[in-house]
Amino acid sequence: MADQERLVNSFCEMVQIDSPSDEEEDVARHLVDRLEGLGFQVARDAHGNVIASEEGGQPLLLSAHMDTVEPGRGIKPRIQGDRIVSDGTTILGGDCKAGVAAILEGLQSIKDEGLTRCPVQVVFTRGEEIGLIGATNLDYSMIRAKESVVFDGNGPVNTITGASPTYVGFDVTVKGRAAHAGVEPEKGISAIRIASDIISQLPNGRLDEETTFNVGTIAGGSVRNAVPSDATFSGEFRSRNTETLDLLRMDVEAVFEKARQKYSEATIDDQLEVLFHMYNLDPNDQIVKLVTRVMSDLNLKPNIKPSGGGTDANVMRHHGIECVVVGMSTNEMHTINEYVVIPDLVNTAIFCQNVLTAKP
Ligand SMILES: [Zn+2]
Repeated sequence: MADQERLVNSFCEMVQIDSPSDEEEDVARHLVDRLEGLGFQVARDAHGNVIASEEGGQPLLLSAHMDTVEPGRGIKPRIQGDRIVSDGTTILGGDCKAGVAAILEGLQSIKDEGLTRCPVQVVFTRGEEIGLIGATNLDYSMIRAKESVVFDGNGPVNTITGASPTYVGFDVTVKGRAAHAGVEPEKGISAIRIASDIISQLPNGRLDEETTFNVGTIAGGSVRNAVPSDATFSGEFRSRNTETLDLLRMDVEAVFEKARQKYSEATIDDQLEVLFHMYNLDPNDQIVKLVTRVMSDLNLKPNIKPSGGGTDANVMRHHGIECVVVGMSTNEMHTINEYVVIPDLVNTAIFCQNVLTAKP
């Protein structure tokens, strides 16, 4: 059985090791030590992802990410009733360290009790929060597993991600012409005006139940008194419906094309890129069946629902690994109000333990 005190301590220790995206080195070293202590052969791939392996047959992959969002430095976890919270100035880092802690506790309690379990690989990735960078750059030649449980969902462990969208990112660069704003504005072409015209033509917000659109950044100009020659903006749209996505993509391209015609003296470059692909969980997959059965045995009713976000699972599935994303017991992720419910955290560790002992 998971040891609650050890689990809470392990979690609190880990969130105190700063690991904003791209600065995961300290926590990676901590995790290498922990995994070696559990008896694994631990390697880092060229990107710095942590990969733990062992001898034996076809392993099950347990996965979570090491990085956290901002404000996530100097986290001071505290216990309030049955919750772990931050001091209110930072996130807690339960996303995804609650998942990491639950995996390690599950493995530790199996070891302590001398239980038999299936062979395991563990992957802790970098840069999940900045576009699934770690999973994208993961050295898949080092991964033998074909099935994975990814601990990166919101809420209790029995919250299973049933569907996840395709995510298209875009970057637009507008080049106009600079001119003195007071002396000869007629000679200028304002890149900022053009960019704002384009943005005002684009869709925005929630477009339907499974589709959203956002322009997230904008930059341009150099000084107050010059017609700006440069402007850039970036955005993203996502949907769990392929048809909607294709139509949206055509709409967006049409807006850019129209702007190119309207502002023929300016240069408007756009780049659209699919950053990750959607999936719908198949309830008949072996790993889905195993996960839901183990939950039911723990009296946790599997709560399968769609998500608007992506996780490493979107990328891993593309590499032929059947993944189920389960809750990691954290709530209000990416905010300073983030909290982990301790009984949920314990359940997550017990779930991990039971999956590994139940899998043939
Ligand atoms: Zn996460």
